Amino acid sequence: MAFFHRRRRFTILPCLILFYTCFSIVDCRKRVSYVSHQRQPSLTPVDYDLYHTSDTLLEQIKKMVNNHQDRFHMDTFTSTNKGYKAELNVVTYCQNTNEIKDKSKIRILLSFGQHARELITSELALKILYILSEEQTLPKRNPVLLNKTLQNTIIKVVPILNVNGRKKVEAGDLCERRNGRGVDLNRNWSVDWGIKEKDYDPKEENPGTCPFSEPESQMMRNLSRSFQPHIWVNVHSGMEALFMPYDHKNTTPSGEESEKMKLMLETLNHLHFDDRCVVGSGGGSVGYVAHGTTTDYLFEVAKVPMAFTFEIYGDEKAYNNDCIKLFNPIDRPTFDRVVNEWSAAFFTMFEMGAHQMKFLEERTPFNVDNLISIDDYLKGYLIERKSRYGEKTELLEIGLQEMRTYFRLFLLSSVLLMFMFCSRIPKSSRSIMTPTTP
Ligand SMILES: [Zn+2]
Repeated sequence: MAFFHRRRRFTILPCLILFYTCFSIVDCRKRVSYVSHQRQPSLTPVDYDLYHTSDTLLEQIKKMVNNHQDRFHMDTFTSTNKGYKAELNVVTYCQNTNEIKDKSKIRILLSFGQHARELITSELALKILYILSEEQTLPKRNPVLLNKTLQNTIIKVVPILNVNGRKKVEAGDLCERRNGRGVDLNRNWSVDWGIKEKDYDPKEENPGTCPFSEPESQMMRNLSRSFQPHIWVNVHSGMEALFMPYDHKNTTPSGEESEKMKLMLETLNHLHFDDRCVVGSGGGSVGYVAHGTTTDYLFEVAKVPMAFTFEIYGDEKAYNNDCIKLFNPIDRPTFDRVVNEWSAAFFTMFEMGAHQMKFLEERTPFNVDNLISIDDYLKGYLIERKSRYGEKTELLEIGLQEMRTYFRLFLLSSVLLMFMFCSRIPKSSRSIMTPTTP
């Protein structure tokens, strides 16, 4: 919210530009619904030099888990409904696998590949797992500090939620987003299930015969019940956005948890994406809200304190039915940029999540430890810069001070702006600027 409000206060022009941009993005995502009405010279195929198949991706993950059994564990669940069988692979990261059930740790649940054609999301899952395994490193991040944060964290990753749908894409059905029997797994959950908007297209958003009709959704619900995450992220592509609840209405929740979610998203947007991502409620004010989504269920019913949907990439210049190009980078530099930027953002989120949970548990308004830890993070960032660019220590110290001040100012100004926004903008106008849905 503060993101929009800052612009609103200074001049009307940037606000109009932003508004126009929102509409453009929404249009870009919605036009996929009209695929069959347009003719298209040539469609972009999946480049298997760039992307793994679902089999090779899962094979690679299994190998990695086997190589690092001290910190990884993998489960494969299966479920069948009326002859339709689905499987769910879940990788668990915990630095000491004996502590996997330790309830004092921060629990994070990440899901990728819920929509079949969004191949890039599962490549991001693979990258995050490689960084957790320490087979790959994160640029600009001190691995020692990262390790320290992750000592108290358990992360569960579902690298390909919709394996059956993904197989259909690999068989040539390049625009498939639903599961192996045509149900949209991000409309199959119980919060506001089954409501159909005017532009409802069953090829895109079929919610199934009832909430949780699909084995994939049932298995994910069981996982969320048993794991009880503090943070949930549903990773999609089609645009660049950091969404929080709600998807089924054009408002955000009220209260302290909501403020914390907003602050988390605005900080990630600022630190990693130059503020270019759309931030806010998933449910849009442009007649395009989403019903029965996973994130709304996990926030409303499973009571996950921080429930997000991240949209990591979209090509709004791609043709309407060129789905591989619409939802996925098709060249190596863009592919690498997306995967590197977003994996860095995820690790910042892990770090911030640890501080946020401490903050919530202690119920203190401001904690010195939090600042020290943020300083540690920034110190790690600058030390990494130093080794990369060979900067002198004095410059490093000055830079460190600047970064500390900047970061504190940023946090303070975000809180102030949110406060001003909430107190000065009436409810009806608040909803006008909320963006679109996953
Ligand atoms: Zn999606």
